[in-house]
Amino acid sequence: MRLVEYPMQAVAPTVAAILGLPKPASAEARPIRPVVRDLAGVDRVAVLGVDALGLAIRRHWAQQMPFLEGLADHRQATLRAVMPSVTPVNFGCMVTGAGVRRHGAHAFDRDFRCQTLFDLLRAAGKTSAGFGRRGWTGHELLGRFADLSNAGPGENDDDVDAGLAAIVEEARPDFLIVQYGATDEVFHAHGPYSDEAGEAVAAADAWLARRVPALRGQGYGVLVLADHGQHAVVDDDGVTNGNHGTDSDEDCLTPLIWVTPTQ
Ligand SMILES: [Zn+2]
Repeated sequence: MRLVEYPMQAVAPTVAAILGLPKPASAEARPIRPVVRDLAGVDRVAVLGVDALGLAIRRHWAQQMPFLEGLADHRQATLRAVMPSVTPVNFGCMVTGAGVRRHGAHAFDRDFRCQTLFDLLRAAGKTSAGFGRRGWTGHELLGRFADLSNAGPGENDDDVDAGLAAIVEEARPDFLIVQYGATDEVFHAHGPYSDEAGEAVAAADAWLARRVPALRGQGYGVLVLADHGQHAVVDDDGVTNGNHGTDSDEDCLTPLIWVTPTQ
């Protein structure tokens, strides 16, 4: 199936349009029309980022991700990461609609230099949350600019998910964004097409199969996406690992899947 491609810069304006907010001031793209059409008027939006789950990797491992495949039956498109195709730059893009020259977050310890979705929600009296592991972008960058972040230790993805579940139960933020990290970590160590990578995507699918239905039941429209992909690299010793950051389709094209709440 040929999927329509949108720029990563379109994610933030899309979330804003769903929530009835103006688009962020530095956004460089228009909202994604089919997503806004399907989710318009939904009270809450959750963006679930599976780090490094590029389009080519998702297709390769489709049989390991039955939940995501089922979700994607009708509502899916492709996103193109902004350069460089690395995590803080592209999660930064998701919450600002801007490339790194405008948003400024080259690394997770930098500050955003332009308006974010978090600012827009705050100005409208709404709450936001950003989640990820300690020392990773979801917590250190997104969580720092959002109203709420991890409860608990945040040492691994299970901790992050448990913290997210607790905060959603307690505070029902109007917008949340989370970085699931194990996929990127395992792809770097073993390559995105290794047996270990297959296990990592299966674990990500199990996480989605638990979290997506729960969020839908709590009134969230859900976007599943990735910040970038990865490509396999063979080092001088003949060992395969993985990397990203280039402008290749493997590094830059990622899935976008969206679902409505069940309520
Ligand atoms: Zn990485």
